[in-house]
Amino acid sequence: MDVKKIAVIGAGAMGSGIAQMGIMAGYTVTLNDVEQRFVDKGASAILKGLARLEGKGKITSAQKEDMLAHLITSTDMKAAVSDADLVIEAVFEDMGLKKKIFTDLGTYSPKHAILASNTSSMSISEIAAVTGRPEKVVGMHFFNPATLLKLVEVIYAEHSSDESVQVTCDVATKMGKVAVVVRKDSPGFIVNRVNAPVVLFHQLILEKGTPTPQEFDAAFKAFMPMAPFELWDYVGIDIVLHTQQYYSETLSKDYAPRKALKDLVATGNLGMKTGKGIYDWSQGRPTIDLTNPTQEYDLSHILAIQVNEATKILEEGVAKDPQDIDLAMTNGGNGTGVFSLVDTFGHEKLVARLNELADAFGIDTFKPTKTMLAGGVSLAK
Ligand code: NAD
Repeated sequence: MDVKKIAVIGAGAMGSGIAQMGIMAGYTVTLNDVEQRFVDKGASAILKGLARLEGKGKITSAQKEDMLAHLITSTDMKAAVSDADLVIEAVFEDMGLKKKIFTDLGTYSPKHAILASNTSSMSISEIAAVTGRPEKVVGMHFFNPATLLKLVEVIYAEHSSDESVQVTCDVATKMGKVAVVVRKDSPGFIVNRVNAPVVLFHQLILEKGTPTPQEFDAAFKAFMPMAPFELWDYVGIDIVLHTQQYYSETLSKDYAPRKALKDLVATGNLGMKTGKGIYDWSQGRPTIDLTNPTQEYDLSHILAIQVNEATKILEEGVAKDPQDIDLAMTNGGNGTGVFSLVDTFGHEKLVARLNELADAFGIDTFKPTKTMLAGGVSLAK
């Protein structure tokens, strides 16, 4: 199937970025939202993005004008999808809303159209069930910002056809993205799943109180664009709580939000957006005291947790092979794989770390998997 026209439903942070990638790849894109002011905001973000590229000499003025000529804005969803070959939904993360939209998409889009959701956490199979064409429904999970991060996870729901997945991968590739197929509609897909128990680990440190978030962050700051608790503040502590709650309902009760995390949210200390979270943001980005880093934890703890979770994804058949997981982690996160780093510390050390963490915190999620106990996985094909 040849995709020419794309409709993007929802012109927020993700939808506008996806629409920009669409017009840059030569597609005609209709960007839809419920009110003109939301569509205008999305379109103006695209205009700014293209102007920036023009300023850097990456596109010419003529190319910019040509791209913009392929952008259509709309507040009428029925019209927006009536001639689309692919619809990408990027509205609020609300199952009721998504089902309502996908019911309408099943009615108003052409029968051949593929219907994709950019959801980070909702069941795509459940969304697909209301469309009357579940074989045409897939997950198409971009990362934020969609204009910069290269990864798109293309997710098989229960009834997605191979063709729907393949066509969606082809579109992502044409947008200059790296498409990684997720073979099972499973919480967190690949990247967010690998990182979920790391956030749990941070949650447990916060609850324990030692080391302090400052001491913990000081040990990691040099290796990451943002230290772990600084990132919590940046993302929003309410979002951290919400996602840990979601994983406690879908993956394991181990993820249940603890008191220290809940207290931050209850007292309105949500991070950067409220001026205070773990750190004080009222004067801008906080300065983290680097003079007293914890000696208790280092990168081997983080990598052990990630590699272990990645082997669960393989055991469950969510990802095809370790190469796909590393490809996803490299392009959707901070530029490195997980399996490719095992030799930096050695497999045995990582297994020892997992046993230490599982014992210290009484958490089964950290226990080494069968695959880890059997010697881990090899990246050699
Ligand atoms: P956002 O709040 O920035 O934008 C959502 C937009 O959807 C709003 O402009 C809203 O007006 C619009 N909308 C609501 N109801 C609508 C309807 N009936 N028809 C058309 N438009 C409607 O949200 P976002 O951050 O862009 O997230 C959108 C989706 O992408 C969510 O499912 C989210 O989980 C997912 N996602 C977000 C991120 C992220 O980091 N922000 C990353 C990956 C995936």
